[in-house]
Amino acid sequence: MASKPKHSLSLRALSKRYGSVAAIDNVTLDVAPGGFLSLLGPSGSGKTSILMAIAGFVQPDTGDILLDGARINDLPPEKRNFGVVFQGYALFPHMTVRANVGYPLLVRGVTRSEIEQRVKRTLDLVQLGALADRLPRQLSGGQQQRVALARALVFEPALVLLDEPLSALDKKLRGELQTELKALHARLGLTFIFVTHDQEEAMAMSDRIVILRDGEVVQAGSPVELYDRPINRFVADFLGRATFLEGTVEACNGAAFTLKVNESRIVIAASSISPRLGERITLALRPERIRFVNGKKLNPEWNRIAGTVISAAFTGRQHSYLIETPLGSLTMLTPSFGHGTPRAVGSDVAVEWPPDAAIPVKE
Ligand code: ADP
Ligand code: MG
Repeated sequence: MASKPKHSLSLRALSKRYGSVAAIDNVTLDVAPGGFLSLLGPSGSGKTSILMAIAGFVQPDTGDILLDGARINDLPPEKRNFGVVFQGYALFPHMTVRANVGYPLLVRGVTRSEIEQRVKRTLDLVQLGALADRLPRQLSGGQQQRVALARALVFEPALVLLDEPLSALDKKLRGELQTELKALHARLGLTFIFVTHDQEEAMAMSDRIVILRDGEVVQAGSPVELYDRPINRFVADFLGRATFLEGTVEACNGAAFTLKVNESRIVIAASSISPRLGERITLALRPERIRFVNGKKLNPEWNRIAGTVISAAFTGRQHSYLIETPLGSLTMLTPSFGHGTPRAVGSDVAVEWPPDAAIPVKE
Protein backbone atom coordinates (compact mmCIF):
# COMPACT_ATOMS: atom_id res chain seq x y z
CA MET A 1 0.00 0.00 0.00
CA ALA A 2 2.72 2.46 0.96
CA SER A 3 4.22 2.46 -2.53
CA LYS A 4 0.99 3.63 -4.19
CA PRO A 5 1.12 7.01 -5.92
CA LYS A 6 -0.21 9.87 -3.80
CA HIS A 7 -3.03 12.09 -4.97
CA SER A 8 -3.90 15.76 -4.57
CA LEU A 9 -7.36 17.25 -4.40
CA SER A 10 -8.46 20.82 -5.07
CA LEU A 11 -11.76 22.65 -4.89
CA ARG A 12 -12.16 25.76 -7.02
CA ALA A 13 -14.95 28.20 -6.13
CA LEU A 14 -17.32 25.40 -5.15
CA SER A 15 -20.90 26.39 -4.25
CA LYS A 16 -24.08 24.54 -3.35
CA ARG A 17 -27.35 26.08 -2.24
CA TYR A 18 -30.42 24.52 -0.65
CA GLY A 19 -33.14 27.14 -1.13
CA SER A 20 -31.91 30.23 0.69
CA VAL A 21 -29.10 28.36 2.51
CA ALA A 22 -25.60 28.40 1.03
CA ALA A 23 -24.35 25.04 2.33
CA ILE A 24 -21.10 25.53 0.37
CA ASP A 25 -20.22 29.14 -0.42
CA ASN A 26 -17.44 29.71 -2.96
CA VAL A 27 -15.00 27.28 -1.34
CA THR A 28 -11.47 27.02 -2.71
CA LEU A 29 -8.97 24.71 -1.05
CA ASP A 30 -6.06 22.39 -1.79
CA VAL A 31 -4.97 19.13 -0.21
CA ALA A 32 -1.39 18.12 -1.02
CA PRO A 33 -0.56 14.53 -2.03
CA GLY A 34 -0.30 12.50 1.16
CA GLY A 35 -1.64 15.41 3.23
CA PHE A 36 -3.98 15.31 6.21
CA LEU A 37 -6.48 18.14 5.93
CA SER A 38 -9.25 18.81 8.43
CA LEU A 39 -12.45 20.71 7.74
CA LEU A 40 -13.29 22.33 11.07
CA GLY A 41 -16.36 24.36 11.92
CA PRO A 42 -19.48 24.48 14.05
CA SER A 43 -22.56 22.43 13.26
CA GLY A 44 -24.18 23.58 10.01
CA SER A 45 -21.01 25.21 8.63
CA GLY A 46 -20.98 22.99 5.53
CA LYS A 47 -18.41 20.33 6.42
CA THR A 48 -20.52 17.32 5.46
CA SER A 49 -21.78 19.03 2.29
CA ILE A 50 -18.20 19.62 1.12
CA LEU A 51 -17.21 16.02 1.84
CA MET A 52 -20.33 14.72 0.06
CA ALA A 53 -19.51 16.86 -2.97
CA ILE A 54 -15.95 15.50 -3.04
CA ALA A 55 -17.31 11.94 -2.75
CA GLY A 56 -19.79 12.61 -5.55
CA PHE A 57 -23.02 12.22 -3.58
CA VAL A 58 -23.84 15.94 -3.79
CA GLN A 59 -23.70 17.75 -7.12
CA PRO A 60 -22.33 21.32 -6.70
CA ASP A 61 -24.17 24.22 -8.42
CA THR A 62 -20.93 25.81 -9.57
CA GLY A 63 -17.19 25.29 -9.19
CA ASP A 64 -14.72 22.51 -9.88
CA ILE A 65 -13.49 19.44 -8.03
CA LEU A 66 -10.01 18.49 -9.24
CA LEU A 67 -8.19 15.21 -8.58
CA ASP A 68 -4.52 15.56 -9.53
CA GLY A 69 -5.56 18.60 -11.54
CA ALA A 70 -8.28 16.82 -13.56
CA ARG A 71 -11.93 17.82 -13.20
CA ILE A 72 -14.04 15.01 -11.69
CA ASN A 73 -17.40 16.78 -11.20
CA ASP A 74 -19.10 14.45 -13.68
CA LEU A 75 -17.54 11.22 -12.44
CA PRO A 76 -20.05 9.06 -10.51
CA PRO A 77 -19.11 8.24 -6.89
CA GLU A 78 -18.11 4.61 -7.59
CA LYS A 79 -15.70 5.73 -10.32
CA ARG A 80 -13.93 8.19 -7.99
CA ASN A 81 -12.49 5.34 -5.96
CA PHE A 82 -12.51 7.23 -2.66
CA GLY A 83 -12.65 5.51 0.74
CA VAL A 84 -15.39 7.03 2.85
CA VAL A 85 -16.43 6.80 6.47
CA PHE A 86 -19.53 8.91 6.89
CA GLN A 87 -21.47 9.88 10.01
CA GLY A 88 -23.85 7.06 10.86
CA TYR A 89 -22.61 5.07 7.84
CA ALA A 90 -23.24 1.69 9.40
CA LEU A 91 -21.57 -1.67 8.93
CA PHE A 92 -23.65 -4.46 7.40
CA PRO A 93 -25.12 -5.98 10.60
CA HIS A 94 -25.58 -9.52 9.27
CA MET A 95 -22.04 -9.76 7.86
CA THR A 96 -18.87 -10.66 9.77
CA VAL A 97 -16.00 -8.22 10.13
CA ARG A 98 -14.17 -10.13 7.39
CA ALA A 99 -17.14 -9.92 5.01
CA ASN A 100 -17.74 -6.23 5.76
CA VAL A 101 -14.14 -5.35 4.96
CA GLY A 102 -14.07 -7.61 1.90
CA TYR A 103 -17.26 -6.11 0.44
CA PRO A 104 -15.68 -3.21 -1.51
CA LEU A 105 -13.33 -5.73 -3.15
CA LEU A 106 -16.17 -8.13 -3.94
CA VAL A 107 -18.13 -5.42 -5.78
CA ARG A 108 -14.96 -4.54 -7.70
CA GLY A 109 -14.67 -8.13 -8.95
CA VAL A 110 -11.44 -8.95 -7.12
CA THR A 111 -10.70 -12.69 -6.93
CA ARG A 112 -11.47 -14.63 -3.74
CA SER A 113 -7.87 -15.42 -2.88
CA GLU A 114 -6.83 -11.81 -3.41
CA ILE A 115 -9.75 -10.62 -1.25
CA GLU A 116 -8.68 -12.97 1.51
CA GLN A 117 -5.12 -11.64 1.50
CA ARG A 118 -6.03 -7.99 1.34
CA VAL A 119 -8.70 -8.24 4.05
CA LYS A 120 -6.22 -9.95 6.33
CA ARG A 121 -3.56 -7.31 5.70
CA THR A 122 -6.00 -4.45 6.31
CA LEU A 123 -7.47 -5.98 9.47
CA ASP A 124 -3.95 -6.42 10.83
CA LEU A 125 -3.28 -2.78 9.99
CA VAL A 126 -6.17 -1.63 12.21
CA GLN A 127 -5.39 -4.30 14.81
CA LEU A 128 -8.55 -6.32 14.32
CA GLY A 129 -6.99 -9.51 12.95
CA ALA A 130 -8.26 -11.54 15.91
CA LEU A 131 -11.88 -10.39 15.50
CA ALA A 132 -12.42 -11.22 11.83
CA ASP A 133 -15.25 -13.70 12.43
CA ARG A 134 -17.33 -11.53 14.74
CA LEU A 135 -20.50 -9.70 13.82
CA PRO A 136 -20.63 -5.90 14.28
CA ARG A 137 -22.90 -6.18 17.33
CA GLN A 138 -20.22 -8.26 19.06
CA LEU A 139 -17.78 -5.35 18.86
CA SER A 140 -17.27 -2.20 20.95
CA GLY A 141 -17.90 1.22 19.40
CA GLY A 142 -14.20 1.80 18.86
CA GLN A 143 -13.77 -1.60 17.20
CA GLN A 144 -16.73 -0.91 14.90
CA GLN A 145 -15.15 2.38 13.85
CA ARG A 146 -11.92 0.56 13.05
CA VAL A 147 -13.86 -1.93 10.88
CA ALA A 148 -15.46 1.00 9.03
CA LEU A 149 -11.99 2.46 8.54
CA ALA A 150 -10.61 -0.88 7.30
CA ARG A 151 -13.51 -1.08 4.81
CA ALA A 152 -12.62 2.41 3.55
CA LEU A 153 -8.92 1.55 3.17
CA VAL A 154 -9.00 -2.01 1.82
CA PHE A 155 -9.29 -1.10 -1.87
CA GLU A 156 -6.35 1.32 -1.71
CA PRO A 157 -8.39 4.44 -2.41
CA ALA A 158 -7.05 7.56 -4.08
CA LEU A 159 -8.43 9.63 -1.22
CA VAL A 160 -9.79 8.87 2.25
CA LEU A 161 -12.80 10.94 3.37
CA LEU A 162 -13.78 10.77 7.04
CA ASP A 163 -16.82 12.58 8.46
CA GLU A 164 -16.56 12.85 12.26
CA PRO A 165 -15.57 9.18 12.50
CA LEU A 166 -14.71 9.44 16.20
CA SER A 167 -17.44 11.73 17.49
CA ALA A 168 -19.62 8.97 18.96
CA LEU A 169 -16.78 7.61 21.10
CA ASP A 170 -15.92 8.53 24.68
CA LYS A 171 -13.06 10.93 25.27
CA LYS A 172 -10.36 8.44 26.23
CA LEU A 173 -11.03 6.00 23.38
CA ARG A 174 -11.28 8.93 21.04
CA GLY A 175 -7.79 10.09 22.01
CA GLU A 176 -6.42 6.59 21.44
CA LEU A 177 -8.02 6.27 18.01
CA GLN A 178 -6.78 9.75 17.04
CA THR A 179 -3.25 8.56 17.69
CA GLU A 180 -3.83 5.31 15.77
CA LEU A 181 -5.43 7.06 12.83
CA LYS A 182 -2.55 9.49 12.57
CA ALA A 183 -0.01 6.66 12.70
CA LEU A 184 -2.00 4.84 10.01
CA HIS A 185 -1.99 7.93 7.83
CA ALA A 186 1.78 8.24 8.20
CA ARG A 187 2.27 4.56 7.39
CA LEU A 188 -0.03 4.45 4.33
CA GLY A 189 0.91 7.82 2.87
CA LEU A 190 -2.65 8.26 1.52
CA THR A 191 -4.33 11.67 1.24
CA PHE A 192 -6.87 12.17 4.06
CA ILE A 193 -9.69 14.70 4.39
CA PHE A 194 -11.12 14.64 7.88
CA VAL A 195 -14.22 16.42 9.15
CA THR A 196 -14.59 17.42 12.78
CA HIS A 197 -16.22 20.08 14.95
CA ASP A 198 -13.63 19.43 17.69
CA GLN A 199 -10.77 21.93 17.57
CA GLU A 200 -8.40 19.88 19.71
CA GLU A 201 -8.94 16.87 17.47
CA ALA A 202 -8.28 18.94 14.34
CA MET A 203 -5.11 20.42 15.82
CA ALA A 204 -3.79 17.08 17.03
CA MET A 205 -4.31 15.29 13.71
CA SER A 206 -3.89 17.64 10.78
CA ASP A 207 -1.06 19.20 8.90
CA ARG A 208 -3.58 21.70 7.51
CA ILE A 209 -6.91 22.96 8.82
CA VAL A 210 -9.64 24.79 6.93
CA ILE A 211 -11.98 26.70 9.24
CA LEU A 212 -15.54 27.05 7.96
CA ARG A 213 -18.47 29.23 8.92
CA ASP A 214 -21.82 29.40 7.10
CA GLY A 215 -20.39 27.44 4.16
CA GLU A 216 -17.43 29.79 3.70
CA VAL A 217 -13.72 29.32 4.35
CA VAL A 218 -12.77 31.74 7.14
CA GLN A 219 -9.08 30.82 7.33
CA ALA A 220 -6.79 27.97 6.25
CA GLY A 221 -3.36 27.09 7.55
CA SER A 222 -1.29 24.82 9.74
CA PRO A 223 -2.49 24.38 13.34
CA VAL A 224 0.32 26.65 14.58
CA GLU A 225 -0.43 29.39 12.02
CA LEU A 226 -4.11 29.42 12.90
CA TYR A 227 -3.47 29.39 16.63
CA ASP A 228 -0.80 32.10 16.60
CA ARG A 229 -2.25 34.31 13.86
CA PRO A 230 -6.05 33.98 13.82
CA ILE A 231 -7.42 36.49 11.33
CA ASN A 232 -10.52 37.28 13.34
CA ARG A 233 -12.32 36.81 16.60
CA PHE A 234 -14.23 33.78 15.33
CA VAL A 235 -11.03 31.83 14.61
CA ALA A 236 -9.32 32.96 17.84
CA ASP A 237 -12.36 31.87 19.79
CA PHE A 238 -12.95 28.62 17.93
CA LEU A 239 -9.34 27.41 18.06
CA GLY A 240 -8.17 27.35 21.66
CA ARG A 241 -9.31 29.72 24.38
CA ALA A 242 -8.85 33.45 24.56
CA THR A 243 -9.86 36.49 26.55
CA PHE A 244 -10.94 39.33 24.27
CA LEU A 245 -9.99 42.88 25.28
CA GLU A 246 -11.41 45.87 23.47
CA GLY A 247 -9.76 49.23 23.77
CA THR A 248 -8.63 52.48 22.18
CA VAL A 249 -5.12 53.02 20.82
CA GLU A 250 -3.56 55.87 22.82
CA ALA A 251 0.08 56.01 21.87
CA CYS A 252 2.40 54.30 19.46
CA ASN A 253 6.20 54.34 19.59
CA GLY A 254 7.03 52.02 16.70
CA ALA A 255 7.88 48.90 18.71
CA ALA A 256 4.84 48.96 20.95
CA PHE A 257 1.60 50.77 21.44
CA THR A 258 -0.54 51.55 24.44
CA LEU A 259 -4.16 50.57 24.54
CA LYS A 260 -6.68 52.00 26.96
CA VAL A 261 -9.06 49.28 28.13
CA ASN A 262 -11.76 50.54 30.48
CA GLU A 263 -9.72 52.80 32.80
CA SER A 264 -6.49 50.73 32.56
CA ARG A 265 -3.64 50.76 30.08
CA ILE A 266 -1.81 47.83 28.53
CA VAL A 267 1.20 47.66 26.23
CA ILE A 268 1.14 45.59 23.06
CA ALA A 269 3.98 44.79 20.69
CA ALA A 270 3.45 46.40 17.29
CA SER A 271 2.73 43.29 15.21
CA SER A 272 1.19 42.59 11.85
CA ILE A 273 -1.24 45.50 12.05
CA SER A 274 -0.36 49.15 12.42
CA PRO A 275 -3.21 50.82 14.25
CA ARG A 276 -4.08 54.49 14.07
CA LEU A 277 -4.26 56.64 17.19
CA GLY A 278 -7.78 56.69 18.55
CA GLU A 279 -8.74 53.49 16.74
CA ARG A 280 -10.77 50.89 18.66
CA ILE A 281 -9.28 47.43 18.38
CA THR A 282 -9.86 43.95 19.81
CA LEU A 283 -7.12 41.76 21.21
CA ALA A 284 -7.09 38.03 21.90
CA LEU A 285 -5.05 37.13 24.95
CA ARG A 286 -4.16 33.43 25.14
CA PRO A 287 -4.65 32.05 28.69
CA GLU A 288 -1.32 30.18 28.79
CA ARG A 289 0.63 33.42 28.19
CA ILE A 290 -0.60 34.95 31.47
CA ARG A 291 1.23 34.09 34.70
CA PHE A 292 1.19 35.01 38.35
CA VAL A 293 3.63 37.75 39.27
CA ASN A 294 6.67 36.21 40.87
CA GLY A 295 9.27 38.81 41.77
CA LYS A 296 10.58 41.73 39.76
CA LYS A 297 9.59 42.60 36.21
CA LEU A 298 12.03 41.11 33.74
CA ASN A 299 11.11 43.74 31.24
CA PRO A 300 9.55 47.11 32.05
CA GLU A 301 7.06 46.67 29.22
CA TRP A 302 5.44 43.57 30.63
CA ASN A 303 1.85 44.17 31.59
CA ARG A 304 0.90 43.73 35.22
CA ILE A 305 -2.48 43.94 36.83
CA ALA A 306 -4.01 43.10 40.19
CA GLY A 307 -7.12 40.98 40.45
CA THR A 308 -9.13 38.43 42.39
CA VAL A 309 -9.55 34.73 41.63
CA ILE A 310 -13.25 34.17 40.95
CA SER A 311 -13.03 30.56 39.81
CA ALA A 312 -10.37 27.86 39.86
CA ALA A 313 -10.38 24.36 38.34
CA PHE A 314 -7.78 21.60 38.30
CA THR A 315 -7.64 19.20 35.33
CA GLY A 316 -4.46 17.24 36.14
CA ARG A 317 -2.33 18.82 33.45
CA GLN A 318 -3.12 22.36 34.49
CA HIS A 319 -4.95 24.82 36.68
CA SER A 320 -7.53 26.98 35.00
CA TYR A 321 -8.49 30.30 36.57
CA LEU A 322 -10.81 33.18 35.98
CA ILE A 323 -9.30 36.40 37.36
CA GLU A 324 -11.46 39.48 37.85
CA THR A 325 -9.41 42.60 36.98
CA PRO A 326 -10.07 46.22 35.99
CA LEU A 327 -9.56 45.04 32.37
CA GLY A 328 -12.33 42.48 32.72
CA SER A 329 -12.27 38.77 33.55
CA LEU A 330 -9.09 37.10 32.32
CA THR A 331 -8.94 33.37 31.61
CA MET A 332 -5.64 31.91 32.70
CA LEU A 333 -4.05 28.45 32.47
CA THR A 334 -0.93 27.39 34.36
CA PRO A 335 0.82 24.02 34.17
CA SER A 336 0.06 22.05 37.32
CA PHE A 337 3.73 21.43 38.09
CA GLY A 338 6.37 24.04 38.91
CA HIS A 339 4.15 27.09 39.24
CA GLY A 340 3.83 27.41 43.01
CA THR A 341 0.85 26.61 45.18
CA PRO A 342 -2.56 26.74 43.50
CA ARG A 343 -4.53 29.93 44.17
CA ALA A 344 -7.88 29.56 45.91
CA VAL A 345 -11.10 31.30 44.90
CA GLY A 346 -11.22 34.69 46.61
CA SER A 347 -7.42 35.18 46.63
CA ASP A 348 -6.01 38.55 45.70
CA VAL A 349 -3.36 38.06 43.02
CA ALA A 350 -1.27 39.96 40.49
CA VAL A 351 -0.80 38.63 36.97
CA GLU A 352 1.48 39.60 34.11
CA TRP A 353 2.04 38.91 30.42
CA PRO A 354 4.55 40.07 27.79
CA PRO A 355 3.66 42.73 25.21
CA ASP A 356 3.68 40.16 22.38
CA ALA A 357 1.12 37.88 24.07
CA ALA A 358 -1.96 39.73 22.82
CA ILE A 359 -2.97 39.16 19.20
CA PRO A 360 -4.92 41.92 17.43
CA VAL A 361 -7.99 40.39 15.80
CA LYS A 362 -10.69 41.71 13.49
CA GLU A 363 -14.25 41.40 14.76
P1 ADP B 1 -22.05 20.43 8.95
O1 ADP B 1 -21.62 19.08 8.44
O2 ADP B 1 -20.92 21.39 9.07
O3 ADP B 1 -22.83 20.34 10.22
P2 ADP B 1 -23.83 20.48 6.64
O4 ADP B 1 -22.97 20.41 5.44
O5 ADP B 1 -24.50 19.20 7.07
O6 ADP B 1 -23.01 21.11 7.85
O7 ADP B 1 -24.96 21.56 6.41
C1 ADP B 1 -24.69 22.87 5.96
C2 ADP B 1 -26.00 23.63 5.78
O8 ADP B 1 -26.70 23.10 4.68
C3 ADP B 1 -26.93 23.53 6.96
O9 ADP B 1 -27.61 24.75 7.10
C4 ADP B 1 -27.88 22.41 6.56
O10 ADP B 1 -29.12 22.55 7.18
C5 ADP B 1 -27.97 22.61 5.06
N1 ADP B 1 -28.22 21.35 4.33
C6 ADP B 1 -27.35 20.32 4.21
N2 ADP B 1 -27.86 19.32 3.46
C7 ADP B 1 -29.10 19.72 3.10
C8 ADP B 1 -30.15 19.14 2.31
N3 ADP B 1 -30.03 17.94 1.73
N4 ADP B 1 -31.29 19.87 2.18
C9 ADP B 1 -31.43 21.09 2.72
N5 ADP B 1 -30.48 21.70 3.46
C10 ADP B 1 -29.34 21.03 3.66
MG1 MG C 1 -21.80 17.18 9.36
